[in-house]
Amino acid sequence: MIGDRMVYDAHAHIHGLLSSVPGGLGGDPPPDTPFATFDEVGLDGCIVCVVGDPATFGVGTNDTDAVQRQLAQIRSAAAEASVEVVESADGFDAARDTGRPALMLGVEGADCIGTDLDALEDLRQLGVRLLGLMHYAQNAVGTISMDLRGVTPGLDGERGLTSFGRQLVRLANELGIIVDVTHAHDETVRDVLDCSTRPVICSHTGVRSYQEFVRYISDELAGAIVRGGGLIGMWPCRIGPYGPRTVSDFAEMVAHCAQRYGVGALTLGTDFNGAPAYADGYRGPVDNALLIEELSRVGFHTDELDAVFGSNLLRFLNA
Ligand SMILES: [Zn+2]
Repeated sequence: MIGDRMVYDAHAHIHGLLSSVPGGLGGDPPPDTPFATFDEVGLDGCIVCVVGDPATFGVGTNDTDAVQRQLAQIRSAAAEASVEVVESADGFDAARDTGRPALMLGVEGADCIGTDLDALEDLRQLGVRLLGLMHYAQNAVGTISMDLRGVTPGLDGERGLTSFGRQLVRLANELGIIVDVTHAHDETVRDVLDCSTRPVICSHTGVRSYQEFVRYISDELAGAIVRGGGLIGMWPCRIGPYGPRTVSDFAEMVAHCAQRYGVGALTLGTDFNGAPAYADGYRGPVDNALLIEELSRVGFHTDELDAVFGSNLLRFLNA
């Protein structure tokens, strides 16, 4: 809690992740937020994703072993830090009632699944409750918005969700695994919205009417996600010339999105322990109090801040 406000983050990674990227991501990444500091920075809970794609961490296709190792690392780091691992909004509520921070497990990049639908069932058994379909490489599910160099890969075939991707989305719906469309190409997102029977999340993004950045969700698709009961996660990340330059710019971006899509559509998705660079003045959850101040300054009321910082995400997880 920050004051008496709950704080939940829809997208994060395990500390130490960036320093483990082979070759590094370049630049000077923000400081880590170790799980043990959640209390100190006022974080009640977050969704922590393992990385399942070959572009960043060399996870091979159909390489569920690599993902299982990462999940085990998160569980042991959480246990060491007295952070609970939960599987539902109720779990988050129960942890908060006992005064303990909590995390939910996710996978970013379905590459690790290959074309094996059973692998998703296995991930569910391991506690995974969110699946980011795409990351930085094309996979059997669909096409991405851009690769690590910021380039939208040229494709011989069609863009969008593959027929395997459709089956995977439907299975995720059945298993109660949330589908995250961040990093997906517009056509892929459109296809996911066509076939998903459940609301989806775009957990860490901005919108293109704020800035024309291919990695951001298009306004048309953001609208469709929100109309379907889904959420848009506000991402304070900077990638080269893209993203909010300062924490005040980030607050303006959140206000812009609130105006277009309503405060009920937004959540925080800071990508801490995974963001290569942030808006100046924001270092991660340690600066959430400052972010709250900036949002008040641009006109957010108390109940609107409550919504963006936690209650929207809990409501979405409950539904
Ligand atoms: Zn990401």
